[in-house]
Amino acid sequence: MMKINREETSGLIEGVMDDLAEKKGFLSITDEAELRKVCRSAKEILKTTDKIIKSYIRVSTDKEGIVRIPAYRIQHNNISGFYKGGIRFSEHVNESEVENLAILMTLKNALHQLPYGGAKGGVHVNPRKVTERELNLISKKYVQRFKPDIGPDHDIPAPDLGTNEKIIDWMVGEYKTIHPGEPYLGSFTGKSVENGGAKGRREATGIGTFLSYSWLMNEWYKSFSDGAGENLARNKQWETIQRLHEKASNKIDINVAVQGFGNVGSVAALEAYNYTNLRHKIVAVSDQHATLYSSDGLDIETLDQYAKIHFSLPKTQEEADKLNLGAEVLPPESVLTCDSDVLILAAIEDQVRKDNMKEIKADILVEGANAPVSLEADEHFENVGKVVIPDILANAGGVIVSYLEWKQSRVKEMYTRDEIIGEMSRQMKMTFDRVYDAYFTSDSDTMRYRCFMLALERLTSLLYKQGKLF
Ligand code: NAD
Repeated sequence: MMKINREETSGLIEGVMDDLAEKKGFLSITDEAELRKVCRSAKEILKTTDKIIKSYIRVSTDKEGIVRIPAYRIQHNNISGFYKGGIRFSEHVNESEVENLAILMTLKNALHQLPYGGAKGGVHVNPRKVTERELNLISKKYVQRFKPDIGPDHDIPAPDLGTNEKIIDWMVGEYKTIHPGEPYLGSFTGKSVENGGAKGRREATGIGTFLSYSWLMNEWYKSFSDGAGENLARNKQWETIQRLHEKASNKIDINVAVQGFGNVGSVAALEAYNYTNLRHKIVAVSDQHATLYSSDGLDIETLDQYAKIHFSLPKTQEEADKLNLGAEVLPPESVLTCDSDVLILAAIEDQVRKDNMKEIKADILVEGANAPVSLEADEHFENVGKVVIPDILANAGGVIVSYLEWKQSRVKEMYTRDEIIGEMSRQMKMTFDRVYDAYFTSDSDTMRYRCFMLALERLTSLLYKQGKLF
C-alpha cells in the first residue's frame, strides 16, 4: 500500500501560509492583525478541496462478468482559472492520492502562472490487465459518469499515469456524443495530433524535466563564479554542482539514473542521452518490473525502441542479453540506490523516504513524477548539500503544453512542434528564474518550500483581489 502524501502537502501549505501571514508588506496590507486574518482565511480555503466526486464505473468484462470500478474526479480550487488535471488509471488509485495530486495541480498552475486551477481524476484499474474493449468501455463510462463536471470552460482533463492519447481520443469521442453540436476540442488535452492535439505534448514533460536539471547545472551554476555566498547550505550545493562540472571537464561522465520509463522517464532519459553540453552517461533505467544497469552506460535509443514495441523494458536477463546492451537486470528499486550522480524520478509517488533516503548516492534529484520524495527526505537532502528539483517546478512541461493545446482549440490554428516546445521552454524558464532567485538567496528552506511560497502568494493575492477573504 502506497503511503498517502495528502497530509504532508496540507502541512506544508499550512506552514507556508503562516509564514506569509508574517511577511511585511504582503498584499500591501499594513495592519499586522488584518494580514494574519486574511492569510488564515486563505489557508482555510487552500487546505480544503472544492469538490470530491466518487462514482463507480460498471463494466461487463470477458472474464468476470459485471464489475464495478471506483472512479474519481476531484476539483481542488479554481481561483486562478478552470480546473485542470490528468486522469490516472492505476490499481493504486484512491481518494487521498487523487486529492493530493489535485492540490499539487493548483499549486503547479499557480507557480507557472497558467490560467488554470487544479483537479485530478483516477480510475482504480490496471490498464494492462484489461482487454482493449474493456479499456475503451471504462474510458467512455468515465466521461458519462463525470459529464456534469467536465468541459472546456469548467474542468479540462488530460492523460496521466496509465493513460495516453488513445484513451483521451476515446474520451473526446464520448464527450462529443454526449454534447452534440457543442465545441469539444478544448474539453480534453493530450489528444492525438490528428484529433486536435498539440505537437510535442507527449514529450513535453520529459523534455521540461531534463531542462530543469540543465538550467541548474548551467545557468545557475555559472551565475556564481566563486561559491554561492555566505549561506552554508547553498555553498554545499554549489560545491556539489562544481564537483560534477569538474568530472565532466576531466572527461569523466556524469552518471544518470532514471526511475520509470513511460512518457516522462523515457523522454527524460533520451534527452540526457543526447545532451552534448556536458558529458552524461545513463547508467540505469527502470520500470515496474526491473532495473537495467550498466556502469559503461546504456543505449537508450535501443531501449526506447524496445519499450515502444513491448510496452516495458526487458524483464529478464535473457531478454536484455538479446539486445546486446551489456546490462544487468536488477530489481526495480535498485535504480534508486545505484551509483549515480543524478537521479530522475519519473514513476510514482513516495519512492524516496526516511527508510531509504540515506542510501541514495545521487547528488541531484529531479522530480519528473509527482511527490516521489517525502518531505522528510527532502529536508535531509537539503541539509547534506544535495539538490532536489521539486515536482511542481520540474514536471510542468506537460500542463504548459496542455494550455497551448487548449488555446489552439480556441484560436482554431495549429502551432508547429518548434513553436510549442519553444514556448514551453520559455514559460518554464521564466518560472525557474523566479524560483532560483528566491531559493538560492534564501537561507534554510527547501526548493519545494520556495515553490509553494511563490504559488501560495499568487493564489492568496487572487483570492484577496476577487474579494473571497472577507
Ligand atoms: P506512464 O504510465 O507513461 O509511465 C510510468 C512508468 O513508471 C512506467 O515505466 C512504469 O512501468 C513505471 N512504474 C510504475 N510503477 C513503478 C514502480 N513501482 N517502480 C518503478 N517504476 C514504476 O506515466 P507517465 O505519464 O510517464 O507519468 C509518470 C509520472 O509523472 C507520474 O507520477 C505522473 O503523475 C507524472 N507526470 C506525468 C505527466 C505527463 O505529462 N505524462 C505530467 C506531470 C507529471
